[in-house]
Amino acid sequence: MDIAGKNKSQFGYSLTKGRQIDYDKNNMKLRDFVISNEPSLLLCIGCGGCTATCTAGGFTNFNFRKLHNLLMRGETNNLEESMKKCMLCGKCKLVCPRGVNTRNVIFTIKRAFAMTDFSKPLK
Ligand code: SF4
Ligand code: SF4
Repeated sequence: MDIAGKNKSQFGYSLTKGRQIDYDKNNMKLRDFVISNEPSLLLCIGCGGCTATCTAGGFTNFNFRKLHNLLMRGETNNLEESMKKCMLCGKCKLVCPRGVNTRNVIFTIKRAFAMTDFSKPLK
């Protein structure tokens, strides 16, 4: 209780829901598949150059850096729909300072979702 007899939620504050990542519960199958097909992804330093230059990112919320984070965490259940926004133009690959073949990463993810193994929710 606050001095005015109100708790914090009555002043517009709220408690943020816990956001813990349990890697043991996430499914790393897609990540392993992508890395085995395109190992250059391991060189990514998360600089965001690909995202800044992305053609699709100019008119959608497609974001390669975010995609990379979700893939590495095994949080891939909602990725399939997002992948449709990338047109595989390859601009992101041209600007990557680490030489990550981003285009092939995306192509590999698209290919994975076209396979029966990955087309159903991974968890
Ligand atoms: S530009 Fe390359 S290093 Fe930077 S976030 Fe994109 S993939 Fe990673
Ligand atoms: S290949 Fe896809 S992620 Fe890369 S710049 Fe083009 S639309 Fe963006």
